[in-house]
Amino acid sequence: MTNRFLSIGECMVEMAPTSDGTFAMGFAGDTLNTAWYARKLLPETWDVSYLTAVGEDALSDNMVHFLDSAGIDTSLIERRADRTVGLYMIQLSEGERSFAYWRSESAARCLAANAEALQGKLDRAGLIYFSGITLGILSVPDRHKFLDAVGKARSNGSTIAFDPNLRPRLWASEEDMCAAITEAAGFSDIVLPSFEDEASHFGDGSCEETARRYAAERAGLVIVKNGPGNVICLQDGEMTALPANAVGSIVDTTAAGDSFNAGFLAAHLQGKSLALCVEAGNRLASAVIGQRGALVDVVEHV
Ligand code: ADP
Repeated sequence: MTNRFLSIGECMVEMAPTSDGTFAMGFAGDTLNTAWYARKLLPETWDVSYLTAVGEDALSDNMVHFLDSAGIDTSLIERRADRTVGLYMIQLSEGERSFAYWRSESAARCLAANAEALQGKLDRAGLIYFSGITLGILSVPDRHKFLDAVGKARSNGSTIAFDPNLRPRLWASEEDMCAAITEAAGFSDIVLPSFEDEASHFGDGSCEETARRYAAERAGLVIVKNGPGNVICLQDGEMTALPANAVGSIVDTTAAGDSFNAGFLAAHLQGKSLALCVEAGNRLASAVIGQRGALVDVVEHV
């Protein structure tokens, strides 16, 4: 296996309101956030790569440039002449944020269209990371191709990490979403759910129940995040509860889970113990929620 952290999904253009009534353009997406933090945390001996599809237009060029300048490898990104990148806009009303999306025709939805090319891109990656959003943007046939490719990569020795990141609006029904997420957990070595989402869509009564449900799909390691609550870990039948960090003031919880995953996985890839991996996840996430935005420059403090 190679020292490659390969994150797969959709990066979108973000238009965020500024104090003077205009909008500032940025780039964001759950799997991108994790890749971005993993790049900051992993030593140079690790390559962090982002796999998605974008257009051939100037906006897509900008996105790829943004990834390049963050030190993320973009060589696996497919360019499509027929599509462009997705976009979302944040609206602020009395301090509450709401989101409008233009992503239904985004290039990223085609990232698994060519099964053979996809398989080649996964080949020999030390860690492959994806989320329920990665699955939710794919057509049903492409989702099958995607999981098939992940399954083959796993048999060839890659470690597979998956965050269910449940987003009902990406799915035809809650039932479809839960079935696909459960199936994907069966392809994964490490599952990193967030309890609140799991409780609302799977009806779990506790973090332990969430952990057992995914472990039953044969995920060897399940790490259940629960905001300020304990992180519950289930590994080879052994359940452990580890406390989250105490956080003074919470400014913006965007990317809490994504950054936790980066902290956890970067430590895991460096052979740290389970307790140290959770500590690294908590440390990064608690620093991220102390500042505004998804991608914040906190790594020197963690
Ligand atoms: P998501 O962003 O996926 O909803 P969570 O809210 O469960 O994820 O939080 C992910 C991680 O972020 C937690 O495991 C914890 O490390 C950190 N975190 C989130 N909220 C808090 C909080 N209020 N206090 C301390 N840590 C927090």
